[in-house]
Parts: sequence; C-alpha cells; structure tokens
Amino acid sequence: MVRAIMLSPPGAGKGTHSEWLTLHTGAAHISAGDMLRAEVARGSDLGRQVAAYTERGDLVPDELIFRILAPAVVAAARHTGGYVLDGFPRTMPQALRAAQFGADLALTSNAVIYLTAPEEELVSRLLDRARRDGRTDDTLGVIRHRLAVFAKETAPLVDYYRGRGILLELSTDRPEAEVQADLLDWLSARGLMPPVAAESGPDHADRAGATLPRT
Ligand code: AMP
Repeated sequence: MVRAIMLSPPGAGKGTHSEWLTLHTGAAHISAGDMLRAEVARGSDLGRQVAAYTERGDLVPDELIFRILAPAVVAAARHTGGYVLDGFPRTMPQALRAAQFGADLALTSNAVIYLTAPEEELVSRLLDRARRDGRTDDTLGVIRHRLAVFAKETAPLVDYYRGRGILLELSTDRPEAEVQADLLDWLSARGLMPPVAAESGPDHADRAGATLPRT
C-alpha cells in the first residue's frame, strides 16, 4: 500500500494529485492545509494560533502541526493501511521527526512525489483559485511569500528524499492525465498500486484525470 508524501510548492497540484492518488489506491488523504483551515474555522484557541501564521503565508510551528496531524495519520493509516500526506512534512525538522515517528510505528513513507511547475504558472494558478475559492492566503503578496518559504524551508527536503531513493519528480506543466500516467507507471513499477488500478494502465489515468481541478 502506498504511503506517500506530496511535496510541492503552492499551486503545483498537490491537492489534485493527492485526491487522484487517494481515489485510486484507497489510502487515506491527509491534507495538512485542510486540517489547519478546519481548526481555524472551529474558532478554537488552537485555531486562532494557527490563523496568525496561515494568513501571512508563514509555516505553522512544528509543535502545533504535530499536535494536529499525528493522531490523524496514525488513525488513517491503521484504518486503510496507507496514506497520502498532502503538505506535510514541510521543514527538515518535520521530515526528521516524521521519519522517526514512521519507523517507531511501522508507517515509514515509501513514495515522495515532488511536483514542479514554472513560478509564473504557479502564481497564475493560485490567482485563478483565489477567484474560484476565495482562499484568504491566495493574494499576490502572500503567494510570493509562500513561494519564498517553500524555497527556503521545504525545497531542502527534495535532496533528503532523493537520497533515500523514494523520490519521483514530476512536472505538472502539462495535461493532468500525462502526469497521472507517469505517476501510475512509477508506483506500479514499485508495487505500490493495488492490482486492479495497476493493470488498467494509462487509459485508467485518462479516466481518472476527470477528478477535481484543485491545486
Ligand atoms: P496548503 O493548503 O498546503 O497550501 O497550506 C496552507 C497553509 O497552511 C500554509 O501556507 C501554512 O501556513 C500552513 N501549513 C500547511 N502545512 C504545513 C506544515 N506541514 N507545516 C507548517 N505549516 C503548514
């Protein structure tokens, strides 16, 4: 079963491809950003602390992230046997702590999907999403800041996971179905797709390409 980390700058398609992967593997989709937004919407003390960071496009401190995410990852992985972690880890300390946590609980990640697209394409997708969904952190200034935070805090994870031999780098500056066909091939070659999905090949990815247009 796939236990994947989706690593991507904002706007490169981690939401879309996480949902596709979840749908076609049965693994649980755990979106760090969605969980944080839900906490903010609840209006809890924790939510107020979280909002102070997310509104500026800064990363929420590692301690808060673990408090919110760890129970969900354990429960979801126990329930489905796999997970697609969308937006976590995002810093080296998060990655190292997640690796330790995974080793302790026999939940170590076996795939890291690194999605890329040119910066101006990322900005334009996020501005489109702002018009569609009205996310408060999809304004031009905050988008630029989130991209800078990605470059500083999250980009170092690429080499870390490449060194562990579990990284797939995919350009999403092309049709979704092509990205999904490449993803399917790579996961199938590693025995990480359930047999039915793996056998149905790229046509399957074409059909799956009709899933939600999120970034
Ligand atoms: P996303 O929905 O993935 O774009 O995340 C939205 C915001 O949530 C980010 O800009 C951060 O402020 C916060 N966030 C999401 N994931 C993390 C994480 N792993 N560590 C710290 N902050 C995070």
